[in-house]
Amino acid sequence: MIQNAGAVGRSPVVRVAAAAGSGAAERVVQAARDAADAVPVCRTGPAGVDAYEPLVLATSDGTTAFVPDPSVPAVEGLVATVADGDLPTEDAVAVVEHDPDRATLPVPDDGPLAVGRRAVLGPCGWVDPFAPEDTALVSTDSTALEATDSGLRGRGRGDAAADEAAAETWATVRSADGDPVVVCNANESRTEQRADETLLGGAPLAVLDGIAAVAAYVGAEDAVVYVNEDDDALHRHLRVAVDAVADHLPVVPQLVVGPDEYRAGGPTAALEALEGADRIEPRLQPPTPATHGLYGRPTVVHTPRTFAQVRRAVRYPDAFEASTGDPGTRVLTVTGDVTAPATVELGPDASLAAVREAVDETGAFKMACVGGVLGGITRDLDVAASGRARDAAGLGTDAVVELLNQRRCPLADAGERARFAATANSGRCVPGREGTKQLAELLRDVYDGDFETDKIRELGRVMARSSNCRTGAHAPRPVTTAIDAFEPEFRAHANGRCPSGACTEEL
Ligand code: SF4
Repeated sequence: MIQNAGAVGRSPVVRVAAAAGSGAAERVVQAARDAADAVPVCRTGPAGVDAYEPLVLATSDGTTAFVPDPSVPAVEGLVATVADGDLPTEDAVAVVEHDPDRATLPVPDDGPLAVGRRAVLGPCGWVDPFAPEDTALVSTDSTALEATDSGLRGRGRGDAAADEAAAETWATVRSADGDPVVVCNANESRTEQRADETLLGGAPLAVLDGIAAVAAYVGAEDAVVYVNEDDDALHRHLRVAVDAVADHLPVVPQLVVGPDEYRAGGPTAALEALEGADRIEPRLQPPTPATHGLYGRPTVVHTPRTFAQVRRAVRYPDAFEASTGDPGTRVLTVTGDVTAPATVELGPDASLAAVREAVDETGAFKMACVGGVLGGITRDLDVAASGRARDAAGLGTDAVVELLNQRRCPLADAGERARFAATANSGRCVPGREGTKQLAELLRDVYDGDFETDKIRELGRVMARSSNCRTGAHAPRPVTTAIDAFEPEFRAHANGRCPSGACTEEL
């Protein structure tokens, strides 16, 4: 049952922050509500640090104690403490003084929540995700017109304007013939990408507000949020969020589910799924979705990350320096060989290396795969977080940094990613269908003593140049970047030895 009624500015208040559908969070909420009627308990969305969830935030008189993952008796004790007019600081990992009316999570001085900055993540874990009064909606009197000079680029593989100027897409949609429509593509089958889920869980009204601002600007009277059919909890969460804000926004999106498949998360495959196609595959382009998208209508397709940034650009235009070419923060999930993943936010010039401070790594760091399953492998994370900087470094721009330890073999890891690309692609174009198979076979050949680096690189160039969509174009990237960083290890395999010891059985 939804019992929240806004959290911002209340005192005392106990917040319970966790992902949508967390059973542990529901137990903590129930225990807290049973412990003291006098203390309001608000179930908020995830703050981004899995190791802390469910995270209890006990607030009184402008001070908040952060208590991670408490037991039920501990919850009862801490709520009783708040009811007595005190703060439960004994098991707290941080105690932070702040403006009593602040609308974003007060950031501790250290620990994982202190990594980077919290701009679009700011409300996550702190606001009531279903209370319009906790989220200052911009689309009630502004449109994305006010973000057109921001220089904002689309974020994520599911965005039709990924790494390109979002405002150019909006201009194309506005000038195209037909009834425009806006699609928020939130269907991500890869569980390591948690950026969109964190934003939709913690600040869904901000994302819906960004969607409405874009819809109002391009003249769309309808919009769609496209979610993974297997994520029932997020779907229910968004249903409540949409209902909560229906009387406030100029355009209220429909929720539509799509298959739990990697390929269904691509921007044009999403349109196929939304149209009910039997076979979900990327469309041939041109035409782009901006002129011929959902049912042939001019269509904006962005991810929740992009819409959250649009709202921020409308609200805080000075936060975006268009002259840098790729302004705005980047939300990233840090995962891989870690005890628990975390989702953090970095400024565009901040070093990606900072993400390591948000997690406990298991084993000594060896390499990272940056930018999703088909991202780039590197030994060196000292690269700026902006998409432009990552692209220049040969890395991926999607919202994932996987930290991989010394037990990992770069050949085995690259091989897994190549095999994934070979099975996940739609088969629609030859470079994607045959190229991914050849890539996986060429890596398999290394184990048989045949390491043809020039052939692998040439295949990679052809696939990058001629594949119909990013799956084929990006499939060679983990392989070629792994060879760049670890060529001696590839050669060692061709000579019958895996330096990391991970491939013993295969040699
Ligand atoms: S690159 Fe792969 S996923 Fe994309 S259209 Fe070609 S075969 Fe399909």
